[in-house]
Amino acid sequence: MIRLNQLTKTYGNKHKQTTALQNLDLTITQGEIFGIIGHSGAGKSTLLRSINLLERPTSGEVWFGDTNITALSEKELQHVRRKMGMIFQHFNLLSSATVYDNIAFPLRLVRTPKEEIEQKVSNLLKLVGLEEHRNKYPAQLSGGQKQRVGIARALANDPQVLLCDEATSALDPQTTNSILRLLLDINKQLGITIVLITHEMHVIQTICDRVAVIHDGNIVEQGPVTEVFLKP
Ligand code: ADP
Ligand code: ADP
Repeated sequence: MIRLNQLTKTYGNKHKQTTALQNLDLTITQGEIFGIIGHSGAGKSTLLRSINLLERPTSGEVWFGDTNITALSEKELQHVRRKMGMIFQHFNLLSSATVYDNIAFPLRLVRTPKEEIEQKVSNLLKLVGLEEHRNKYPAQLSGGQKQRVGIARALANDPQVLLCDEATSALDPQTTNSILRLLLDINKQLGITIVLITHEMHVIQTICDRVAVIHDGNIVEQGPVTEVFLKP
């Protein structure tokens, strides 16, 4: 479903360069939960943001289904990006908007009819368990509740893939587990493919089907979680 082909990303100018990814190959299969683990600076964030081309590769290709999306214009890309929802470590909610309006935001961007927005947001609020909090502002919510809003917003345009950028790193262990359970439900019930980056082994072992270990911009190991990290 997603294929990265000889992906290289170099930041900087001719005076100072950092190679964040180097000739990286990766294939993610439809329906799986794929985890990418590595230390700080390994290239996880660059890798995740390359999947929806928030970062343009220096060289190499990104394929989504049977489309080489690196060849698309920014305008064509907008359409593809809607098929990939994204959630963030620090949630990235609009602080001056209610829970309802945060979730409705991506629907309004694509001029969804008002009745359809009402219906969709109501369903999403139910899915993430925030029906009673629809009129609250982010500052009135716990970390876990904020991430639930982030997840609902990411699902608003019916994506095929959910990209998770350290989605539980700002949460305590108990809240982390409840968010991981929600992600697992979304994967199983809605059939949405999940790609997540993390530096926490616990996250990988709790929900991932397959894992890749990234080090210095390269994948040094990958496979089913149970094979890559043999349990004692
Ligand atoms: P991780 O998410 O694993 O911490 P990143 O993808 O953020 O890794 O970073 C990989 C490397 O690229 C690091 O050396 C980092 O300093 C560098 N890097 C990331 N973003 C930028 C940027 N915008 N400009 C310059 N260097 C960057
Ligand atoms: P607009 O016409 O400005 O696009 P709406 O008429 O859909 O927006 O909604 C006006 C405001 O009412 C929204 O900003 C939202 O905060 C609130 N709202 C709309 N529907 C609901 C709902 N079902 N539950 C809670 N708040 C809602």
